[in-house]
Amino acid sequence: MPIPQPGRAPGNCGEHFAVVDPATGEAFEEAPDQQPQELDAIVGRAHQAWRGWRADPVARATALRAAADAVLAAGPDLAPLLTREQGKPLAESYAEVARTAARLRYFAELDPGSQPITDGRPVRSEIRWRSLGPVAAIVPWNFPLQLASAKFAPALAAGNTMVLKPSPLTPLATRLLASVLASALPADVLTVVTGREPLGARLASHPGIRHVTFTGSIPTGRAVARGAAASLARVTLELGGNDAAILLEDVAVERIADRLFWAAFRNCGQVCMAVKRVYAPARLYSQVVEALAERAKTVVVGAGLDPGTQLGPVNNAPQLARVERCTAQALAAGARAVTGGHRPAGPGYFFAPTILADVPPDSPVVTEEQFGPVLPYRSLDEAVEAANSTGFGLGGSVWGTDLDRAEAVADRLECGTAWINHHAELSLAQPFAGIKESGVGVAGGPWGLYGNLRPFVVHRLEEA
Ligand code: NAD
Repeated sequence: MPIPQPGRAPGNCGEHFAVVDPATGEAFEEAPDQQPQELDAIVGRAHQAWRGWRADPVARATALRAAADAVLAAGPDLAPLLTREQGKPLAESYAEVARTAARLRYFAELDPGSQPITDGRPVRSEIRWRSLGPVAAIVPWNFPLQLASAKFAPALAAGNTMVLKPSPLTPLATRLLASVLASALPADVLTVVTGREPLGARLASHPGIRHVTFTGSIPTGRAVARGAAASLARVTLELGGNDAAILLEDVAVERIADRLFWAAFRNCGQVCMAVKRVYAPARLYSQVVEALAERAKTVVVGAGLDPGTQLGPVNNAPQLARVERCTAQALAAGARAVTGGHRPAGPGYFFAPTILADVPPDSPVVTEEQFGPVLPYRSLDEAVEAANSTGFGLGGSVWGTDLDRAEAVADRLECGTAWINHHAELSLAQPFAGIKESGVGVAGGPWGLYGNLRPFVVHRLEEA
């Protein structure tokens, strides 16, 4: 199957914007800068396509299975392009492609069914599930394909059609994915639009959109919710996190150190549910700091396309500036960079893997969404309270050898997902929902499917 390359779309004579390779800091491609007014026709076509797409669940499931096969087959085209624009090591881009295919397969097999309601009256009541119509998805730059599929797989399986907007920082692999999916899906069932703001704002507030599902930062999530309020569209928001890892007294530091390190540094720390703070008992503090610093010093940092690279660059210049600012503020406030803490010489958006110790607890590197610090605690209550003390509530983890005790501590975390002895692993079948400012609504598993459906209830009085 010939796969059109992204960049200048054939026949599109409009404006384009540059896409930068974060490993060099230089533009290498461009994408169409679609304008907000184009959305009227696009949403109109998505509405037309919905009539056919919603009608036949068996045909839908067949198309989604074919789509999964097409995505896997296109891995050798998708993965390098994703690495080029996002920065992550190639193996991680292949993992995103695989996850996208797996998610399509998972939702292809889910059936919302119908549920009877019995309350003792002579009425036969039944819930049947109906699709919503054209829906919108807006996603960030850290996991472009994986997060897009977390939106479109359940939405399409439910019988909705979708207009999907990737981040302008990473539009290319998603455009290519759309052309791959076009071989398996009817026209206009999934449309990818690319462009700079206010394209996303207009999409979120478009009167023809019935559900806006957004992943990104908290301030933009608020703006999206305000926009969707105009048409009272349903809103699902997956926002930031500041996950804490609490190490217990009985933790085997050397045994868990690799897992803990990668839970913080995978994707260069640009994971909503990465470990962003480590709380270690005062007695183990130096040992934990040393174990993490040792790994930070030896990890292979480089361009994602270079074989052997374990950690790529930060994705974009503003994010790099944010990392630098948080680190500088912490150092100025008395923290110690055990390793890293600076940009290496040379091109690209690289930042040396950094472990900060002796960080004041009110430092932005602790209170905001960022990676790096290890913090000591004197009592477990103090650690749990600190873990729960921010406005975030995405995830958290507890690490120790007594699993029951660790689970009892995890039970006290105020967040959507808690892990024991690992972190940030999600099953396709689980609900994923942040609390507090980390999110609104539920994605994942059957809950993600129902989040894309509306209940339609039929009451039948059992007498004529
Ligand atoms: P962002 O909020 O800046 O952008 C996200 C998306 O919104 C992009 O596509 C962007 O173009 C678009 N956008 C920008 N302004 C808009 C507006 N006014 N209206 C509508 N759309 C608009 O986020 P980011 O910097 O791209 O991504 C990083 C953030 O995403 C981090 O906070 C991270 O924690 C979060 N995130 C959360 C999850 C989760 O599942 N909870 C997963 C991944 C990332």
